[in-house]
Amino acid sequence: MKNFTDSRTGKRKGKRVGFPRFKKRGRARDSFRYTTGAYGPASNLQVKLPRLGRVKVHEAMGALTGRLAAGSARLLGATVSRTAGRWFVAFTVEIDREIPQNPSARQRAGGAVGVDAGVKHLAVLSTGEQVDNPRPLTRSLRRLRTASRAYARSKPGSAGRRQRAAALGHLHAHIAHQRRDGLHKLTTRLTKNHDVIVVEDLHVAGMVRNRRLARAVSDTGMAEIRRQLTYKTVWYGSRLVVADRWYPSSKTCSGCGWRNPSLTPADRTFACQSCGLVIDRDLNAAINLRNLVAASTSETENARGADRRTQPAGRVAVKREPGTARAGQTGGASPRGEAA
Ligand SMILES: [Zn+2]
Repeated sequence: MKNFTDSRTGKRKGKRVGFPRFKKRGRARDSFRYTTGAYGPASNLQVKLPRLGRVKVHEAMGALTGRLAAGSARLLGATVSRTAGRWFVAFTVEIDREIPQNPSARQRAGGAVGVDAGVKHLAVLSTGEQVDNPRPLTRSLRRLRTASRAYARSKPGSAGRRQRAAALGHLHAHIAHQRRDGLHKLTTRLTKNHDVIVVEDLHVAGMVRNRRLARAVSDTGMAEIRRQLTYKTVWYGSRLVVADRWYPSSKTCSGCGWRNPSLTPADRTFACQSCGLVIDRDLNAAINLRNLVAASTSETENARGADRRTQPAGRVAVKREPGTARAGQTGGASPRGEAA
């Protein structure tokens, strides 16, 4: 309701938000939620739900049962939902997390890492690693086309239409799951193995407005990487630094700092006319991002992006995201919980 009224009065920017509609079977996502009663994991591969009893699940409950038994987690609710014919249960959990206070105990092998999120690769890291982009949508486009066409040609209200709608829904769910899998693996690995993760402040909404870029950008989930890094750095006690949107990470030489203002998005390699460095464009950007913090972390214990007194290279502003790692504070569980 608030989004609707704000949108009407012009307080809320962006696309017009309509009046909220009631959920309806077949039109909304089928879901219901427990906040009272005896719900929770029943065994390693079972959950108990009020009125339904014990239900077998596919994801092991070990991590949750262990925490519940140890008293470091409390169940706040359970949401049961259906996606593409499968039922999911997501527990909302409040977790006490131990985040090491001592910086040396927090030190990870990976140190600081710059992450250049892109379309060609899901991410290029300053370590030189290129994380493959699974591009699930691109790979499934042909099958998606066939399924959409079959659905469109079916007779409204017929059994065949129902079946084809289900098949199309399965395909979309499959694509979404593949995408999510790749993103979670990447962000978990980064936040667990590195002290500081430096990313660019990407204007994803703007890139999606570009018709030539929209599909490829949407197929990677570049904004989702940032969102996941924000909460996972809190979970694991690492730190996220978001470089200013106007920081020229691609146009600057990572070797000597020379700037190439005429670099176009089509140039895949960066060739420095000052020191002669020839390097992959994305790797160059990732190294520049890492260098934003690399210098300061070795000098001071509590280097923290824009809070520093001396700015690196004179013109670089680094913002510190709200909600990123504050040592000593516990991180709560994601409000969505983990699907079982
Ligand atoms: Zn150079």
